[in-house]
Amino acid sequence: MEKLPTLRETVEQYGLLAKKSLGQNFLLDINITQKIIRSSLAAQQKADFSDSQVFEVGPGPGGLTRAVLAANPATMTVIEMDKRCIQIMEDLRQAGYAQLNIVEGDALKFDFASAAQTSPHNHVVSNLPYNVSVPLLLGWLKQISLFESLTLMFQKEVAERITAEPDHKNYGRLSVVAQLTCHIKTLMNLNPNCFVPAPKIWSTVLLFRPLDVIPTTEILQKVEKITELAFGQRRKMLRQSLKAYDNLDAVCQKLGIETTLRAENLTPQQYLLLAQNL
Ligand code: SAM
Repeated sequence: MEKLPTLRETVEQYGLLAKKSLGQNFLLDINITQKIIRSSLAAQQKADFSDSQVFEVGPGPGGLTRAVLAANPATMTVIEMDKRCIQIMEDLRQAGYAQLNIVEGDALKFDFASAAQTSPHNHVVSNLPYNVSVPLLLGWLKQISLFESLTLMFQKEVAERITAEPDHKNYGRLSVVAQLTCHIKTLMNLNPNCFVPAPKIWSTVLLFRPLDVIPTTEILQKVEKITELAFGQRRKMLRQSLKAYDNLDAVCQKLGIETTLRAENLTPQQYLLLAQNL
């Protein structure tokens, strides 16, 4: 393995000024990226990624990429939109990491389902570009059985929406869909000064692992529809926000759900029951 330049040297060498339009806030301290990967592996009771394929969205200058590579993945696939970072990834591969596959393009259009067929164990790791973090997460949650884990960095308020419990102001559609598909663990919060450039807000790393029983795609779509209607009018009672369902009263009575409740009062499990019965 060749000795690699530091991440700061890499950024200087490529004149990699961060672009706001690509949600770029870089992690240039390898101690932090290693801590993220170590804590994710520890929470999964894994020593390393040696039996696995790891996908990374937006490797940027490669701080997290290097930390994943140090955990010895069988293969690692990085998907990056910024051409400047593609060359950095090529250099990393040349430096001795032949297991690195480099894909230039938009991760929202990447076919994870096909790529995951090449390995029995798949994981996603990403310091997500904030402007597409929610659509990327929803895309993975809809096909969560492809993955053993997702280790993802979000803006702290997005992470709070994902992990919020019923009756909390942050509780919403994202909380319901995420909690119906995954165990979610908060691995750490990161101060803005950990990033270059420093964002205005804190960030949070979450670990998602699929639940043993995952709702079918059809039921999840129905959960999305019901939560869209319910949280679209979150101050209204269910009998108003879900009135489009003719059988609402009968189903709620059968399930013991009061139609005078509001969207934020229902647990994810109750939304699942509604989706299975309405
Ligand atoms: N992983 C690096 C780090 O931690 O320093 C960079 C993280 S930065 C928050 C997000 C990265 O995602 C950037 O490198 C950006 O170019 C890339 N990116 C933005 N939108 C993308 C998309 N739709 N598909 C793939 N990569 C994207």
